[in-house]
Amino acid sequence: MTMVNETHDPARKSWVSSANGHSQFPIQNLPFAIFREAGSNGIWRGGVAIGEQILDMAKVVKLNLFIGDAQTAAQAAAQSSLNTLMGLGAKTNSTLRSALSNALSEESADQSALENCLVAQSDAQYALPCQVTDYTDFYTSIHHATAVGSLFRPDNPLLPNYKWVPIGYHGRSSSIGVSGQTFPRPVGQTKKPDACTPDFAPCQRLDYELEMGVFIGQGTQLGQRIDISNAQEHIFGMCILNDWSARDIQAWEYQPLGPFLAKNFASTISPWVVTAQALAPFRHQFSRPKTDPQPLTYLTSEENSQYGNLDINLSCFIQTENMRQAKQAAQQLSESNFKHAYWTPAQLVTHHSVNGCPMTPGDLLGSGTQSGPEADEAGSLLELTQGGKKSLILDNGETRTFLQDGDTIIMRAHCSRDGAVSIGFGEVVGTVLPALL
Ligand code: MN
Repeated sequence: MTMVNETHDPARKSWVSSANGHSQFPIQNLPFAIFREAGSNGIWRGGVAIGEQILDMAKVVKLNLFIGDAQTAAQAAAQSSLNTLMGLGAKTNSTLRSALSNALSEESADQSALENCLVAQSDAQYALPCQVTDYTDFYTSIHHATAVGSLFRPDNPLLPNYKWVPIGYHGRSSSIGVSGQTFPRPVGQTKKPDACTPDFAPCQRLDYELEMGVFIGQGTQLGQRIDISNAQEHIFGMCILNDWSARDIQAWEYQPLGPFLAKNFASTISPWVVTAQALAPFRHQFSRPKTDPQPLTYLTSEENSQYGNLDINLSCFIQTENMRQAKQAAQQLSESNFKHAYWTPAQLVTHHSVNGCPMTPGDLLGSGTQSGPEADEAGSLLELTQGGKKSLILDNGETRTFLQDGDTIIMRAHCSRDGAVSIGFGEVVGTVLPALL
């Protein structure tokens, strides 16, 4: 696992002046995205965020500044998707990180050559960072699982397997879009509790889910397991994920085989992928309450106990159509933290592959809704409105139980810690359109 090294040094500054003191993209971060100039027909290629700028990797590789593994990885990062880069593995990606950090640091001899490789983020548009080869969504917040369970099954909120098995379901990658995604309100089957037969109509209880996504790096073959001690090496990086959810469709369809059409009409991710290496300073001890069952041996390692958890502050905002018309800023709905997760990313990767299921560079694992222990740390409207029973009153006087057409949801994620430079994931933005009838 990548530990803290010179690329995280708080004293390191960049010749890209906007990076120094930047709340999201200082030189200690260096996340990847796929971009091109907005409104152009230019080619999509990889870029690295540095302050307000993007380092255009397609131009960087032509300069031949790097050698060996760093140049191999830089060439992969210049492609129109990051799958090849992801598949090179953690060691090679660390080499590229060091090379990029040196090239962008104040004392770099490459400054004048690289100044011609910068594109302003304000001039860019983004594509999905990779071809999302497969998508699995987990359920790692015990606070979310308990709150949702008590709404769907008041007498039996947390099922007995929850504390033993990382619960997940296989989603669809076909409806995953990058920040800026819009989608029609889903239509489907729902059944009111007192009705004998279901209705077929637009979803009435449309929700968001505040999640993080984990991108798989180096893949595996059929039959090969990823040992927990090695799982972190198979994680390329993380993004913010909004797993839009149709609660009324979900309630009617989810038993006995789990979520299906309630979940696969749209999922939106942030354009920037923050690498596992960049997250090293924000790792924490992972432990369970003594009264809870401890994870089985195959989900336990010294490294996971010492560093498996991640301190990532998460926040969620709404901007309604009326707020947009009145040019009012988005309003915060809740704030939470990834550190409350009941399972770590390494445990998710190990569990996913324990039966021999192959993992592929570009596979996306959703964390599940990241609700914290307090009521105002809920990562969905289902929880914030107690299943739609308690309306939220917004600052402009509008009320919400669930999302209305024209609502935009914005999610942000940020890491800070004493002795480290803060880094951010940027944001993920998505908007609900009227149903297509
Ligand atoms: Mn979810």
